[in-house]
Amino acid sequence: MKLKITFPRWGNYTIAFKTLFKELGLEVISPEKTTSQTIIEGAKLAPEMYCFPLKVNIGNYLETIKKGANTIFMVTALGGSCRLRYYSAVQDKVLQEAGHNVNFITFDQSPKDIFSKIKEISAASPWQIFKAVRFSFKKLRLIEKLEKIAQYYRPRQVEGTMTDKLLIEALVGLDRTEKEKDFPKFKKEILKKFAKIKIEKNKNMPKIGLIGEIYTVSDPIINFEVEKKLGQEGIEVHREMDLTYHLKKKIFFWKDWVIQKKIKPYLKSTVGGHGRDAIYEMLDYVKKGFDGIIHLLPAFCMPEVTIRPILEKIHQERKIPFLSLSLDEQVAEAGINTRLEAFVDVVKNYYKYKKKRL
Ligand code: SF4
Repeated sequence: MKLKITFPRWGNYTIAFKTLFKELGLEVISPEKTTSQTIIEGAKLAPEMYCFPLKVNIGNYLETIKKGANTIFMVTALGGSCRLRYYSAVQDKVLQEAGHNVNFITFDQSPKDIFSKIKEISAASPWQIFKAVRFSFKKLRLIEKLEKIAQYYRPRQVEGTMTDKLLIEALVGLDRTEKEKDFPKFKKEILKKFAKIKIEKNKNMPKIGLIGEIYTVSDPIINFEVEKKLGQEGIEVHREMDLTYHLKKKIFFWKDWVIQKKIKPYLKSTVGGHGRDAIYEMLDYVKKGFDGIIHLLPAFCMPEVTIRPILEKIHQERKIPFLSLSLDEQVAEAGINTRLEAFVDVVKNYYKYKKKRL
């Protein structure tokens, strides 16, 4: 049977993952953009009390299975209290019970296991694997760079929605850049276009730090484009949590020790996932004089639910505006918009008050 690979959709990173499999010479059925229907279909099959990303993943799989996907490449975690460890086992069972006979290739996050699982599904040589990883990593880094540029440009742009128009153009172009040799030219041209957007460089504005669960904070569809909405309201958004941050922590493993030391007055043990990181990031944003913190978490995410009272405590102690948004299939965009609008008013007032006191 010819392998037709798919994988869970994850925001703009999907472009880089697709490139990895294509470069390995595999047939890929890339997950389509997540829609409310995708989420409804996934939630229908998934165990109700499981964390939200698992339900979205199942919805993504169902769409690719319809198009012929028969093999799912899925990440797992080796230890800790995060449910990612059981994702592929639960997803496999759920899909089998619904009559979908697909094969799961599950990899832990070590380079050795990633390499051996890639070897299992492709006939690529070590050199080809190296080149495929290198090219997809270049795309991944550019995606993160573009997202950061957009965070900076949106509240400063002079012309309406130029930044977001260009961001879409850049992501479509990146997806179409199929040869690594064409990548540097594409990157240079797109960055040049961004540099041409008219912005008010010296404009001062309130700043919000976005913290929380990695999938939720970095997938704009899942978080109802919170970064874009805040940017258009004249707020500069900062987000530390992304895939590179996570990968760096895998390499520089002692960073966890540093984080634990810094957050010790609030938490003395691990809670799994990126729970400790959210506390650390909030303390850091407070120290840097930010004007608000938004915490995003998927419903039933134990690490983030556990640390939420700690974030509340920091908010009470340091008096920084704080909003925690729990997202799942029941949450409607209109409700999120109302809460965001109210929070933006609080942040703007806090910013004005701070300025007056200076
Ligand atoms: S971090 Fe939270 S949402 Fe993500 S897999 Fe772990 S428990 Fe689930």
